[in-house]
Amino acid sequence: MLQGWVVVLASVGYIGLLFAIAWFADRRAREGRSVIANPWIYSLSLAVYATAWTFYGSVGRAASDGVGFLPIYVGPTLMILLWWFVLRKIIRVSKLLRITSLADFMASRYGKSALLGGLVTVIAVIGILPYISLQLKAVASSFQILLQYPEVPVPQAAGDLPFLKVTALYVAVFLALFTIAFGTRHLDVSERHEGMVAAIAFESLVKLLAFIAVGAYVTWGLFDGFQDIFAQAAQRPDLARLMTPFDAPGALANWVWLTVLSMFAIIFLPRQFQVTVIENVDEKHLKTAVWLFPLYMFAINLFVLPIAFGGMLTIPGGTVDADSFVLTLPLSRQQEALALLVFIGGISAATGMVNVETIAPSTMVCNDFVMPIVLRWKRLTLAAEGDFGRLLLTVRRGAIVAILLLGYFYFLAAGEAYALVSIGLISFAAVAQFAPAFIGGLYWKGATRSGALAGLSAGFLVWLYTLLIPAFAKSGWFGAEIVERGLFDLAILKPTQLFGLGGLDQTTHAMVWSMIANIGAFVAFSILGRQSAAEHGQATLFVDVFTQTGEKAPTWRATTSASALQTLLGRFLGPARAAELFLAYANERGLRSAEELSADAQLVNFAEIQLAGAIGAASAHTMVATLAQEEPFGMDEVMTIIDEASQVIAYSHKLEQKQRELEEATASLQAANERLQELDRLKDDFISTVTHELRTPLTSIRAFSEILHDNPGLDEAERQRFLGLVISESERLTRLINQVLDLAKLESGLAEWQSARLDLAGIVGDAVDSTSQLFRSRGVEVRTRIAGATSEVMADRDRVMQVLVNLLSNAVKFCPEEAGRVEIRVQQEGHSMRIDVEDNGIGIRLEDQGAIFERFRQVGDTLTRKPSGTGLGLAICRQIVIRLGGHLWVRSAPGAGSTFSFTVPIAQASAPVPAAA
Ligand code: ADP
Repeated sequence: MLQGWVVVLASVGYIGLLFAIAWFADRRAREGRSVIANPWIYSLSLAVYATAWTFYGSVGRAASDGVGFLPIYVGPTLMILLWWFVLRKIIRVSKLLRITSLADFMASRYGKSALLGGLVTVIAVIGILPYISLQLKAVASSFQILLQYPEVPVPQAAGDLPFLKVTALYVAVFLALFTIAFGTRHLDVSERHEGMVAAIAFESLVKLLAFIAVGAYVTWGLFDGFQDIFAQAAQRPDLARLMTPFDAPGALANWVWLTVLSMFAIIFLPRQFQVTVIENVDEKHLKTAVWLFPLYMFAINLFVLPIAFGGMLTIPGGTVDADSFVLTLPLSRQQEALALLVFIGGISAATGMVNVETIAPSTMVCNDFVMPIVLRWKRLTLAAEGDFGRLLLTVRRGAIVAILLLGYFYFLAAGEAYALVSIGLISFAAVAQFAPAFIGGLYWKGATRSGALAGLSAGFLVWLYTLLIPAFAKSGWFGAEIVERGLFDLAILKPTQLFGLGGLDQTTHAMVWSMIANIGAFVAFSILGRQSAAEHGQATLFVDVFTQTGEKAPTWRATTSASALQTLLGRFLGPARAAELFLAYANERGLRSAEELSADAQLVNFAEIQLAGAIGAASAHTMVATLAQEEPFGMDEVMTIIDEASQVIAYSHKLEQKQRELEEATASLQAANERLQELDRLKDDFISTVTHELRTPLTSIRAFSEILHDNPGLDEAERQRFLGLVISESERLTRLINQVLDLAKLESGLAEWQSARLDLAGIVGDAVDSTSQLFRSRGVEVRTRIAGATSEVMADRDRVMQVLVNLLSNAVKFCPEEAGRVEIRVQQEGHSMRIDVEDNGIGIRLEDQGAIFERFRQVGDTLTRKPSGTGLGLAICRQIVIRLGGHLWVRSAPGAGSTFSFTVPIAQASAPVPAAA
């Protein structure tokens, strides 16, 4: 009965049935009556975890390691206890951001990093190749076994190998076509694969039933129940050994690590992420899955040991590969129908796995590897491009074919040398590398993009070195010397005993080192590095997903129109779907049509998330960025940035510093203000003083003029006296006005200066000459003393004269008449010439000595006040001396005379100057 055509026909018939199921489920989904919106179907679809590895390989593993096959199922069971906390969080985030794959999740968490998404994709694709090759190998060998019937089935016989290889290729091609037809029929790329999930759930039932059927047949058909099998096995020392798990050295460590490994696998295998997270319809389904899935695991493992022992007890040792016991045991008793059922069960296990395990990575390859590159290329021409949906679909289909062919090549390169389970474990170890960055990213806000990149790269490199190279070496492809002697002939670098770590099985050994490298690099780079604002925003979004309310805070500044966004979406999702989404969005906001929408930040955000569902977070972000601008500094972002202690401290330091700067600025402003007010007051004072000073002589002039006017009969002497007063008051007025103007000119810096080399002795002589009349009229004696040779000074001659005349006339003014003596001294002092004008007059009180240099300040007894004084003379002198680069000061005591002194800098030595006249 079991001719080739029967087997092929049965297979094709079964695949047809799967198609029918998928088609039915898809139709129901379109009608809005989803079949997979059911916790039982969801739980069964998770059982895609059980592959040909479980179906054929567990028995093989049990035959060599006894209960050692169990950790692979203990791990997931343990993990499921955590699901309600961990997986619910993953699902919540993924729904919120329309995550499309594991790579997308990682990219999105770490600041929508296309680089990280690409790396995850590469690791996932390379990592699952052994696993895919395992399925090809299992299906091909089971097919071969059936074809050989009723010959003694010896699948690994040397002559059969080429045939196996060809069969495996057929299987690969067939599965590729099947997967493409199955998983990528829709143009609408963002839709979930409802039909596929339904078919997977059905396959899970079939493989479970088939396995239980063969298990029951062996247990109760070939033996008398469990007790009988275990009793017989206990009598064979080689079998009895298999029932005690922890005897071998390192066995406990192996158990622990395999358990950990499979805990990770149940989340991070691309197909598991796909069915548990991406295809999840309702979080609540997890509640059923947490007990139903472990139950399934238990049921499918129940008969593993009985079948393994049954095979070893009834089939002569070594003639049959234990991996094929489930098939060869029924065949050896001519149970053709059962064997066919087992074969179909095996196909179920393998196709289910291959379907999801290629569709999920094809999404990654498309969204996180090809799209970012295509978008970078085509960014400029995008506006002109039409339909991207078809491109996406083509890329995904290509990826499926490529992954299966690569899996086939892996089988050619390394598949023969290993038992099924060992091949699968290599893949487990690869995807376990995602764990630190993924779980860290879910619970630790400080985890950074560079940490994730470093950890993943380090772990993956160790994986390549300790697992992949030895796998190739074992098949004789390359690397044999490295494995035997270590890299560069260094024993310490032996891939299977790195740094001398021995006594563990190969997978455990690889896990120890890869996890040390991975976690170490991840944590170190995260702690040492810095996060960008965008990265921090995403980190908070992921870690705090349960405590956040509502939608993601928009980070877009809208610079586009709603219709442009809709067109963009239409390119990837199809115009109809885009219109539908926009209409729904508009309706939600109480608008009647999408045209009424305005392109605010929320809408841009909505479009980005919808697009992310089709092409991944990183690419969606890139695309939307072509239309809208990113908000550089949202207040939310700022607040999240500063919520970390270290940053708060840095921030408050900055605040303090700002505050200090502000205080300083305020203080200097205040000072400036006070100074301005003071100046203003001075100006007012000056004006009122000037007017006051001007009024005094004017009043006198007017008074005397009126007297003259009103009294024409005034006698001549009186007339002359009054006219003389009018003239002298007018002179005083003129002098006053001239001095005020002069001072104003000096103070504003507008006065003209004609600097020249001057001989001071000559000027002093001139000054004395021009005031000699004054001295003579008051009977005051004047003397000049020039000490030594005088140097020339650089100054304006008239100005120096002005100072000297002023000081001399003051001196003579305050000297006693007839007894007054004034002495002028000229001497060199340092780099200046110093001039003293000493008198023996009334002197100035110490407290008045500052005031006399101010404008209009005349001190002392009012009786001594002479009409010629204006109170401006010394103020002008000081201005002039300062302009000349010297000082003016006074030394005096009341009744003991005064000495006014000033300095003028000596001219720089240069060309000789003709002596002054
Ligand atoms: P004035 O034109 O009124 O002399 P100054 O600015 O030259 O104005 O002088 C200001 C005041 O300083 C004088 O009014 C006088 O009180 C005092 N003063 C100036 N020179 C002498 C001096 N040699 N002896 C005593 N007092 C003097």
